[in-house]
Amino acid sequence: MYDITSKSADDFINHEEILDTIKYADENKNNIKLIDSILEKAKLRKGLSHREASVLLACKDENKNNEMFKLAEQIKKDFYGNRIVMFAPLYLSNYCVNGCVYCPYHAKNKHIARKKLTQEEIKKEVIALQDMGHKRLALEAGEDPVNNTMDYYLECIKTIYSIKHKNGAIRRVNINIAATTVENYRLLKEAGIGTYILFQETYHKESYKKLHPTGPKSDYNYHTEAMDRAMKGGIDDVGLGVLFGLDKYRYEFAGLLMHAEHLEAVFGVGPHTISVPRICDADDIDKSSFSNGISDDIFAKIVACIRIAVPYTGMIVSTRESQKTRERVLHLGISQISGGSRTSVGGYFEAESEEENSRQFDVTDTRSLDEVVNWLMKMDYIPSFCTACYREGRTGDRFMSLCKSGQIQNCCLPNALMTLQEYLMDYASSETKEIGENLIHKEIENIPNEKVKNIVIKNLKLIKDNNKRDFRF
Ligand code: SF4
Ligand code: SF4
Repeated sequence: MYDITSKSADDFINHEEILDTIKYADENKNNIKLIDSILEKAKLRKGLSHREASVLLACKDENKNNEMFKLAEQIKKDFYGNRIVMFAPLYLSNYCVNGCVYCPYHAKNKHIARKKLTQEEIKKEVIALQDMGHKRLALEAGEDPVNNTMDYYLECIKTIYSIKHKNGAIRRVNINIAATTVENYRLLKEAGIGTYILFQETYHKESYKKLHPTGPKSDYNYHTEAMDRAMKGGIDDVGLGVLFGLDKYRYEFAGLLMHAEHLEAVFGVGPHTISVPRICDADDIDKSSFSNGISDDIFAKIVACIRIAVPYTGMIVSTRESQKTRERVLHLGISQISGGSRTSVGGYFEAESEEENSRQFDVTDTRSLDEVVNWLMKMDYIPSFCTACYREGRTGDRFMSLCKSGQIQNCCLPNALMTLQEYLMDYASSETKEIGENLIHKEIENIPNEKVKNIVIKNLKLIKDNNKRDFRF
C-alpha cells in the first residue's frame, strides 16, 4: 500500500500508486480547468505533488505546454538566476561485480580495460582537473567489494582534498558509489563529501530485476532505500536520478517525484539534486536496443516539469547530451553541468587510446571546459565554480530553508562572480577572459545589497591584483 513515510521501498515507491497516477494523468490530460489550477499552484513556487506534475507531463495541449515551459524558465530564473554551476566527474575504478545490462562496466564484459586509480594516479588526475579550472568533482566507481572498498574511497577523498597545485583546489567532492550501509555513509560524511549521488536507474521493480540480473545491485529494495540510510548516516545532501530509456518515462517521472516526496516527508529535506541522464551508446551497449528511449522534445518536457514540481532542487545534465540539447534544457531548469569530462578511468592526465577503452559512456559534448565556459557566457549565463554552501555548513534542511526563503540568492551571485574571476585569472583563454571580464562588470550591478556589492568589488580586485583566492559568502 502506498505510504509516503514507510521504511519499505515497496510502499513509498508503490507500484499501484504509480499506475493510478498515470491513469489519473491520462484521464485529465485534456482537463484544461484542472491543468490551469495546477499551473496556478505551481506559480506559488512551493512545488507540486507527483500526481499534479504527472498531469502536466501528460498534457498535449500546445498552449498549456508553452505556459509550462515559460513557467519553468521563470522559476529557474527566480531561484537560480542565470548562474550555472560547473563540475567534472572523476572515475576512480571501473571494477564492478554487477550485471547491469545498460552499462559497459558490467562484470561479464571481458574486453573492456579494467582500471583502478592509485593515489599517485589520482594526484595526476586531480592536478589535470585543477589545471582546467575545476573546483567541484563527482567521484564515480563501479561496485566491487574487493577492489573498491570504503577504505579506498576514504583514502581517495583525503588525497583529493589535500592537493593544492598552483592556485587550484578541489573544494567539494561529491560521490556516486553503490548503495551501502548507514555506517559507511557516516564515514563518507566524516570524510567531508558534499552530495551522495545514487541513480535509481529505474523505479519499475520488475524491469529493475531484469536490468540487474546479477550482483548486489540486483536487490531493488536495498538500492531504493539507500538514500534513507544515507540520511540516517548524516548525509543530508543526496542526489537522485533515473536513466531515462530503461522503462516508460512517465513511470520513472512519477517514481522520481515520489522518492523526493518520501525524503522530504521522513527527513524534512528533499533531494539536493536530480540528474536526468538518458541512455547512450558505450562499449558493448547499443542504445537502440532499448525500446523506451525518449525524444528531445519529451526530454525537454521532463526537465521543465521537474523544475516546476521541485523548484528548490538543483538539476544536472551531463556531457551525455549534445551542445544543442544542453542549450535547450539550460533554459528550462538545469542548474549544474559538467564540462571537459572524461568518462574513462584516468582520462584527464592522459587521454586513453581506443584499444584501452575504459569509458562508461560515449561523451557527446566533447568541448573543453574553456569552450563550455565561453559558450555559457556568450548566452549570458554565469558559469559558477562556487562550492560555498557545503563549506559554510549550509547543507540539508539549513540549505533548503535558505533556498525557500530566497536568502540563498544573496550568496549565489556574489560567489559566482568571485569564483568566475578566479577562473578567468588562472585558466581562461584570452577570448574567454575578455568575455568574462565584461560579464562580471555587468553582473556586479545586479547585486542588490550595496554592502555586499562593495565587498565583492574589493574581493574581485584582490583576486586580480593580489593573487588572493577563495573568498565566499
Ligand atoms: S551501472 Fe554501476 S553498478 Fe552497474 S555495471 Fe555500471 S558501474 Fe557497475
Ligand atoms: S552559494 Fe550555495 S547554492 Fe549558491 S551556488 Fe554557491 S554552493 Fe550553490
